[in-house]
Amino acid sequence: MKSYKLFLLPGDGIGPEVMAQVERVMDWHAKAGVVRFEIEKGLVGGCAFDAHGAAISESDMALAQAADAVLFGAVGGPKWDGVPYEVRPEAGLLRLRKDMALFANLRPAICYPALAEASSLKRDLVEGLDLMIVRELTGGVYFGEPKEIRDLGNGQKRGIDTQVYDTFEIERIGRVAFELARKRSNKVTSSDKRNVMKSGVLWFETMNALHKREYPDVVLEHQLADALGMQLVRAPKQFDVIVTDNLFGDMLSDVASMLTGSLGMLPSASLGLADAKTGTRKALYEPVHGSAPDIAGKGVANPLAMIGSFSMALRYSFDLQDAANHLDAAIADVLASGLRTADIGGSASTQQMGDAVIGALQKAAG
Ligand code: NAD
Repeated sequence: MKSYKLFLLPGDGIGPEVMAQVERVMDWHAKAGVVRFEIEKGLVGGCAFDAHGAAISESDMALAQAADAVLFGAVGGPKWDGVPYEVRPEAGLLRLRKDMALFANLRPAICYPALAEASSLKRDLVEGLDLMIVRELTGGVYFGEPKEIRDLGNGQKRGIDTQVYDTFEIERIGRVAFELARKRSNKVTSSDKRNVMKSGVLWFETMNALHKREYPDVVLEHQLADALGMQLVRAPKQFDVIVTDNLFGDMLSDVASMLTGSLGMLPSASLGLADAKTGTRKALYEPVHGSAPDIAGKGVANPLAMIGSFSMALRYSFDLQDAANHLDAAIADVLASGLRTADIGGSASTQQMGDAVIGALQKAAG
C-alpha cells in the first residue's frame, strides 16, 4: 500500500470539527488497504496567532512545503477581528498560496440530484450539473503594480489597481484547464473581456495558440466574462471546464457555487506547477466555506465540503481515481439516503454525516 505525507491545518471555528471527519475517512482508507497517510498537524489562522503571534509559524510553513499535499479547514472568527492586518487569520492562507506558488484554483460545481431543490435555479436546469471552474490565482488585478490610492493634491484621490498578465501565466493556467478537460468531457470555455481590455486580448490569443499547438483534440470555446455570468444562470449544463483570470474567476465561481445549493457542499483545490522530474505538484485542498462562528462548537457543521476536498486530493495529488470515485459516490449515497445537516435542510450532526460516509464506503467495498 502506498503512503503519502499529508499536512493538516484544521484552523479555527468549524475547521477542526470537519477535519476530524476527514481523519476518520482517512483511517478507513488505511484499514481497507487503499492508501496510507503519514499525517502531521499544524496551526493556521487565529489559533496560530494565539500560539505564535503569527497566522502561520515558519516551522508549519516548512512542513507544508515538504508535504505531498496540504488539507486546510477554515480560519477566522470574531475573536481575532482586532488583530494587526499582517497577522490576521487570512494572512496564513495567503502566505501558503504565495509561498507554495499555488497559481491554479479548481472549484467544481456539482449538483447532486438529491439536492437539486436546494439550488436557487429550477431542478431541470441544475440536476446532474458537473462543471469545473479553473481560476488563475496568483496574478492579475489583485497583485498587479501600481496598486495604491494616490492623493492628487486638489482634494481628489485616485484609486489604482493594475490588471496585468504575461504569456507564461496564461499558458500554465491554460494547460491545467486543457489537461483536466481531457479527463472529463473534453471541452474548455475560456473567458476574458477582450472587447475592452488588452490583457483580455492577450488571454484570448494565448489560449488559441496553446490550443492549436498542444491540445487540438480538446474543444475550445470563448465567452466574454459578462456573457458567461449570464449563461451560468441560464443554462449551466452547457459547460465542462471554464478557465478564467483571477478577478472574473473569483466572481464566476461564487455564482456557480449557488447553483449547487449550500456552501457546506463545496470543495476546492489550489495547485502549483508540476515538478519537471516527478510530475508532482504542490497542492492545498480546502472547503470553500469559512469558519462559521455562528455554529462552531455545536457539532452541526456539514463535513461534506471538507470530505470532498480530501477526495480532490486523492484525485489530483495521488492519482487515485478509483478511490476518489468511490468517495464521491459515498457522498452521493448519503445525500440520496435523505441524511442532511441543517444547512441542507436536515438535523443530522457532523459526526452522523461522517458515520454515514464511512458506512457507505464500507457497504460499497463489500
Ligand atoms: P462562512 O462560510 O464561515 O459562513 C457563512 C454561512 O454559511 C454561516 O451561516 C455558516 O454557518 C454557514 N456555513 C458555512 N460552512 C458551513 C458548513 N460546513 N456547514 C453548515 N453551515 C455552514 O462565512 P462568513 O460567515 O462570511 O465568515 C466567517 C469567518 O470565516 C470570518 O472570519 C471569515 O473571514 C472567515 N472565512 C474564512 C475562509 C477560509 O478560511 N478560507 C473563507 C471565508 C470566510
